[in-house]
Amino acid sequence: MTEPAQASSGKEPIKASELDPKFKYQLLKTHGSEKILKCFQCGTCTSDCPVARYSDSYRPRTLIHMAQLGLKDRVLKSDTLWLCAACFTCTDRCPQDVEVANVIRVFRNMAAENGCVPQVFKDQAASLLESGYAYKIPELRVKKRESQGLPPLPKGNAEKVKKVLKGVKFMDSAQKPVGGQSSGQ
Ligand code: SF4
Ligand code: SF4
Repeated sequence: MTEPAQASSGKEPIKASELDPKFKYQLLKTHGSEKILKCFQCGTCTSDCPVARYSDSYRPRTLIHMAQLGLKDRVLKSDTLWLCAACFTCTDRCPQDVEVANVIRVFRNMAAENGCVPQVFKDQAASLLESGYAYKIPELRVKKRESQGLPPLPKGNAEKVKKVLKGVKFMDSAQKPVGGQSSGQ
């Protein structure tokens, strides 16, 4: 795989060489996406998705359709994949019990395995390891709290966070270079 897709809209003409006929079988065997072929493209997931309502490009139905067709690279490199808020509305409303939110999670896990994680999440992952917080709290804000007599913020426990994340191979996938090997963290 190369850089995260500019082709994430999925509107470009499909080339036969892009199709991976094995992708759907891989999904059928993966926990969370076993029911993907039950999707009959009714569009309920997209029409009820709160993110799709405010996005011109995020369409869970389309991602599922692309996966059914075998457009693996387009799905995994899609930057819209990372817009899902994991609210599970789609899962509740899907008439085919596809468990759409879980399918999106599977796509993300596969994308991460291939190094297709947006830089913003890689930065958050690095911050978690360093400070125990997903966002670095600016020194200016800490000082402002002090000046206003507010109690100090609790210290993040980076070591504990590392221990937990190591168990789920978080850093292996979150920091993996695109299409490359793990950073080994
Ligand atoms: S609601 Fe279910 S069946 Fe309908 S398009 Fe979405 S995943 Fe497919
Ligand atoms: S879980 Fe994701 S795809 Fe499903 S409705 Fe919520 S934001 Fe949309």
